[in-house]
Amino acid sequence: MTVLLGCIADDFTGATDLAGMLVKAGMRTVQMIGIPQEPIGNDVDAVVIALKSRTVPTAAAVAESLAALRWLQQAGCRQFYFKYCSTFDSTAKGNIGPVAEALLSALGSAFTIACPAFPANGRTIYKGHLFVGDLLLSDSGMRHHPLTPMTDANLVRVLQAQIRGKAGLLDYAVVRQGEAAIRARFKALEAEGCNIAVVDALSNNDLMSIGAACADMPLVTAGSGIALGLPQNFRRAGVLADDRVADVLPPTGGLRAVISGSCSLATQGQVAAMQAVHPSFRIDPLELARDSSRVSAALDWSASRIHDGPLLFYATATPESVKTAQAQLGTAQAGRLVEEALAAIARGLLAQGVGQLIVAGGETSGAVVSALGITGLRIGPEIDPGVPWTVAITRESGERPLALALKSGNFGTPDFFLKAWSRLSESL
Ligand code: ADP
Repeated sequence: MTVLLGCIADDFTGATDLAGMLVKAGMRTVQMIGIPQEPIGNDVDAVVIALKSRTVPTAAAVAESLAALRWLQQAGCRQFYFKYCSTFDSTAKGNIGPVAEALLSALGSAFTIACPAFPANGRTIYKGHLFVGDLLLSDSGMRHHPLTPMTDANLVRVLQAQIRGKAGLLDYAVVRQGEAAIRARFKALEAEGCNIAVVDALSNNDLMSIGAACADMPLVTAGSGIALGLPQNFRRAGVLADDRVADVLPPTGGLRAVISGSCSLATQGQVAAMQAVHPSFRIDPLELARDSSRVSAALDWSASRIHDGPLLFYATATPESVKTAQAQLGTAQAGRLVEEALAAIARGLLAQGVGQLIVAGGETSGAVVSALGITGLRIGPEIDPGVPWTVAITRESGERPLALALKSGNFGTPDFFLKAWSRLSESL
C-alpha cells in the first residue's frame, strides 16, 4: 500500500486546513512538519508536508518544495498537490509561480492549474478574478497584508508576473459545462503553450467537476478547495475504499491535561469554563522571571492530582496583565519565558503519564510540538471547525502514543476543554 496523494503546503496552518479537508473527504491523512526524516506508516492515503515557504526567498522556497516532492515521490504518491492560501498570498516574485513551475518540470509535466477558490469561505474566481466575499481581492483587507499585499485581483496577471512560461485562463463558461468540457479545454490550453491555467470556480459543484477533470494531472496547484474533488478520482480508480472512515485514530489512553498559552478572547472563556470544573495552575511570566523553580512546582502540584482527572496549566491572562508583564520584561522575553515554561511542563506531564493533551495558542503549540520532538500529526476527528484531534508522530518510535489537539487562539466553543475528551473516546 502506498500513499496516493502527496501534498506540499507553503505554511503550517494551510497544511492543517488541507489535511482536514482530505480527512473529511475520506482519505487517511498525516501532516508532517517539514520534510520527514523517516518513512511513515503504511495505512496512510495522503501526506501533507508543511513547509514555511510562503515568504522566504524564492530560491529557498523552490529548493524546499523540490526536496519535499522527492520525499513524496519516494513514498509512492500517484499525484502531487501544491497548496497555497485561498487568497493567493504571494509577493510580486512568487513564490507560488516559481514553485509550481519547478514542481512541474521535476515531474516532467507540461501543464497544471492554479485554483485558490474556496466558495464555502467566500473565495470565488470569475474571469480569472479572485473575490473575497463580495469584494475583489484587491479591495479586500489583503491589500494591506504586511508580507504579501495583494493589490491585483486578476490572478492570470499576478501569475504571469511570477512565471517564465505562459499563464492562461479556464473560463467559467467552460467550467459550468462540467468535467468533460474542462478536460478538453485543459488539452487545448496546453496545445496553445499555456503551462499554468487559472481556473474559475464559484461553487463546490465546480470544485468537484474541476477535481474530476484533474484525475490524470501529475501536479495540481490550488487552495484547499480542490481537495474536495480529488478523493473521488482515487475511488473511481479502485485504489481508495468507498466506505473508508478516515478519522479513526489509534487508541492512546493515558492521563489528560490542557496547556494554554493563548490570551485570545475565546481561550479566556475556555480557561474560565475549565477552571470552574477542574483544578488549574497559573503560570505568570513575572513569577517565572523571579523564580526558576516554577516549572518543577507545577509538576509537583500535578503529580499528586493528575490521576484524578484533567488538569489545566495556563498563562492565559487579561490584556492588562499581559501588558504589565510585557512592560517589565519586554514582549519577546515575556512570550519566551511562558513558551519555554509551558513546553517544559508538557514534557514533564508526558513523563507523568499524560497521553491526551490539548494545547491552546499557535505559538504555544509550536513550542510544545518542538519540545516534544514531534515531527508529524495523524489527523483524527474534528472537535470544533478547524481543530481536530491528532496523534503525534515522533522520531523515536515505541513511545507511548500521544493524542494532541492544537487549538489556535480564537477557535472553539466555550466548553472546548471540557467536551474535547469525549470526541476522542468516540473515535476509539
Ligand atoms: P494565540 O493563538 O491566541 O495567538 P499564541 O500562543 O500564538 O496564542 O500567542 C500567545 C503569546 O503570548 C505566546 O507567545 C505566549 O507565550 C504569550 N503569553 C501567554 N501568556 C502571557 C502572559 N500572561 N503575559 C505575557 N505573554 C503571555
